[in-house]
Amino acid sequence: MASSMRLSDYKTDVHNDWCPGCGDFAILNAVQLALAELRIERHRAVVFSGIGCSGKTPHYINVYGIHTLHGRVLPFAIGAKLANPQLEVIAVGGDGDGYGIGAGHFVNAGRRNIDITYIVFNNGVYGLTKGQASPTLKLGLKTKSLPKPNINQGINPIMIALAAGYTFIARAYSYDVKYTKDIILKAIKHRGLALVDVLQPCPTYNDIYTREWFAGMDRVDEKGKSIPRIYKLEDQGYDPVVHSNDEDETQAKMMQTIAKSNEWADRIPIGVFYQNEHIPTYDDRISNRIPNYRTNPPALQEIERDGKASADISRLLNEMRSSYV
Ligand code: SF4
Ligand code: MG
Repeated sequence: MASSMRLSDYKTDVHNDWCPGCGDFAILNAVQLALAELRIERHRAVVFSGIGCSGKTPHYINVYGIHTLHGRVLPFAIGAKLANPQLEVIAVGGDGDGYGIGAGHFVNAGRRNIDITYIVFNNGVYGLTKGQASPTLKLGLKTKSLPKPNINQGINPIMIALAAGYTFIARAYSYDVKYTKDIILKAIKHRGLALVDVLQPCPTYNDIYTREWFAGMDRVDEKGKSIPRIYKLEDQGYDPVVHSNDEDETQAKMMQTIAKSNEWADRIPIGVFYQNEHIPTYDDRISNRIPNYRTNPPALQEIERDGKASADISRLLNEMRSSYV
């Protein structure tokens, strides 16, 4: 930790070409605020992204950053964390990127419970390629970018993450920057794999999931006031934390997560749905096999001494050669 880190330290002067009013700006801001609040030194943080509008996020955050391949953000992020467990690793991407082409990685990452944070910018469309329906757009919806209503079911990423083994599962709403920052902060502090699915209006292509729709401005109560769709789980006394190793408690917390994740359209919960720190992380598991993994991870190992490679792999190469002849 460094006491002198300020919000401005995490900003870059790279030109930002997201559309005016895009929810991405608020998520970017929330990530920077979380890094500043945690005072994470820039050389200790890395942000990976996939492909899509959100893929540009690492360009705008002044820490290490890598803009990777479509759907492949998690393998890159996991590789970095494995090589250097001291790094604070944040993966970002869109719903099409992560829940569509990257769906296999999204599921399998859960099995490992590696200690990184995955933030999904969820807007229901493939924004960068002109607004095709993404995996989270509900059946029958017709955004202005679609010629006909969506013919496919929308998936429930909270439930998939739970089934896959994510140990921190949350949803935020991008226009509430402070709350999104608070959720990202909790996700970073969580020991294990964290998913933060952020509802992110795309004003250019999605004219259904808009700021006005989330605020419930299309419906009013008897006093003529809008009835917001978004509400916070904790305002209902919801407790997402699994407090013990007890199987019954874990089951109960999973069941309430499923129930809440199915709420949509009339009432949309945001907040932490599920948190369980009683599952061993990948770091714990590999340390049981390789006792000095934490003190001597791959990134800290010597690769060269006096101009020569430190590792002698000639025996390995000879063995491989003899097995092929
Ligand atoms: Fe944002 Fe949509 Fe524009 Fe992409 S297309 S930058 S998601 S408003
Ligand atoms: Mg999208």
